[in-house]
Amino acid sequence: MVNSIESDLEQVFKTCQLLDFKWIDPQAISVRQWVRFKCTWGCRNYGARATCPPNVPSTKDCRAFFKEYKRAVLFHFRDAKTTREERYAWTGEINRRLLELERAVFLRGYYKAFVLYVDTCRICEECTTTRDACKQKMASRPAPDALGVDVYQIARNAGYTIEVLTDPTQAMDRFGFLLLD
Ligand code: SF4
Repeated sequence: MVNSIESDLEQVFKTCQLLDFKWIDPQAISVRQWVRFKCTWGCRNYGARATCPPNVPSTKDCRAFFKEYKRAVLFHFRDAKTTREERYAWTGEINRRLLELERAVFLRGYYKAFVLYVDTCRICEECTTTRDACKQKMASRPAPDALGVDVYQIARNAGYTIEVLTDPTQAMDRFGFLLLD
């Protein structure tokens, strides 16, 4: 059964045209060291973007962050793009929408609202390599994987299908998070 806080927030999601979502328990969001290792070895964004490792809190602090929330929402996005540039433009636009959602939820009184983007920030065309140099500090947010979250497991536990893709033109399933009290 949906309680009054959830039904109130779902009106905001509807206004923001975010209709594909599931409520999840933030206490079930596990932070894994192997995810951090994957970011550190094997990702081109390591040290190259202001919201990616090593410009993020320790996994210990990430665990503590999730423990401080009572509710979370997983937003699903799916599309196929041909080029890397098209993929980046798509996820950048989604991230801007998530930021608008966070603001709308915050202004409704849910002061702890915090979103995690579906991909590395991409609010600016060119990112910086450190947090201090970030060009839009008010708008930058990390992606869940940058915080050590196993997004595949969370999505599957919530009932979504997500698979490893073998061709960059295949349809992608992306997930953004909203944390709430
Ligand atoms: S706001 Fe701009 S500079 Fe800052 S993390 Fe995002 S893309 Fe990078």
